[in-house]
Amino acid sequence: MTTNVSGLDVARIREDFPVLHQMVNGKPLVYLDNAATTQKPQVVIDALVNYYTLDNSNVHRGVHTLSQRATEDFDMGRSKARQFLNAASDQEIIFVKGTTDGINLVAQSYARPNLGEGDDIIISTMEHHSNIIPWQVLCQEKGAHLLVIPINDAGELLIDEYEKMLTPRTKLVAITHVSNVLGTVNPIDQIVEIAHNRGVPVMVDGAQAVPHMAVDVQKLDCDFYVFSGHKIYGPTGIGVLYGKAELLEAMPPYQLGSEMIKSVTFEHTIYNDLPFKFEPGTPHIAGVIGMGAAIDYLNAIGLDRIDAYEHDLLEYGMECLSGIGGVQLIGTAPRKSSVISFVMDCAHPHDIGTILDTEGVAVRTGHHCAQPLMQRFGVPATARASLSFYNTKDEIDLLVKAIDRVIEVFS
Ligand SMILES: *Cc1c(COP(=O)(O)O)cnc(C)c1O
Repeated sequence: MTTNVSGLDVARIREDFPVLHQMVNGKPLVYLDNAATTQKPQVVIDALVNYYTLDNSNVHRGVHTLSQRATEDFDMGRSKARQFLNAASDQEIIFVKGTTDGINLVAQSYARPNLGEGDDIIISTMEHHSNIIPWQVLCQEKGAHLLVIPINDAGELLIDEYEKMLTPRTKLVAITHVSNVLGTVNPIDQIVEIAHNRGVPVMVDGAQAVPHMAVDVQKLDCDFYVFSGHKIYGPTGIGVLYGKAELLEAMPPYQLGSEMIKSVTFEHTIYNDLPFKFEPGTPHIAGVIGMGAAIDYLNAIGLDRIDAYEHDLLEYGMECLSGIGGVQLIGTAPRKSSVISFVMDCAHPHDIGTILDTEGVAVRTGHHCAQPLMQRFGVPATARASLSFYNTKDEIDLLVKAIDRVIEVFS
């Protein structure tokens, strides 16, 4: 069954995800909360189980067979992540707990030593709290300024305003690739070019981009790029910080301990090479292996086909919802990915979410860890349906039916 523009066999793909095949409140589950976390295909679950069942061992330490097998799979996970982002070398791939952890690493290890009183860091109105607070607190501590790129009513960055913000005092631009609330796809290549023309490095929060489109960090020319494994159909607790080698080389380690050292005496420690300098302690071995399986899975389907399929689904969803009286869409940029945020005249987002749940439809409601963005649009919260390649137009129709039910209940 190939009934869509991209030729994805979605019925077949859905078979790969055991969690999707269940009833919720007596209705078939319609999972539309993929921006919060994605479901796991059986191959990812199997990779985790196989590791713990057959190969469990610490890495880079033992000469014994199990440790060698675990190390091989762990190292392969790094190569897969490197290929996934098209980074120049495995050394530029640092395993972290997730996007939040990766941003904190850049804040503490890159920005802290480089930021002085009166300097600036630039973020945008549409950032996730994880890409606001580390910079805010650091700026407060250093007497530096946090500047915020404004957006228009559609949810697009005002690039002219951004250009004006850059000065010799700008030390870093930290910006999201795709908004988790609006779905806006930001022109990262342009943002990077403008910053680099003034010698300013750029860190990109890629949490909502890598699940939906092929990302090439060398083409973007960004200096840092972070994402979470659990949003690309992999396990929680694992993510990637990509950094250009020359920047990472110059940065002090973020946390200290075993694995990140070459030699230790009580007087002096010599740090390990990249990427190990930034990976103290026993790593999340199962997480790396599971994320590697998720990357293999995405590659087998193809990010370009995923992008095309989800784009078609998004357009269908936006069209359906904009046709419902009393529904207002938040985030209507022409370049958009996989997220439909909305509010309704008749009901608070929390009540929308509760009624949808009784219909088996899982969406997220609330501020989506982006309270300043909610303030920009003058709403306390939104309901958000976020799409994956395993979602279908039939499921969008069920969402619409469930929204009709909200209208019935509250009017
Ligand atoms: C989810 C998300 C984060 C935080 O990711 P964690 O996995 O919770 O660390 C940061 N930024 C964006 C845009 C996100 O969607």
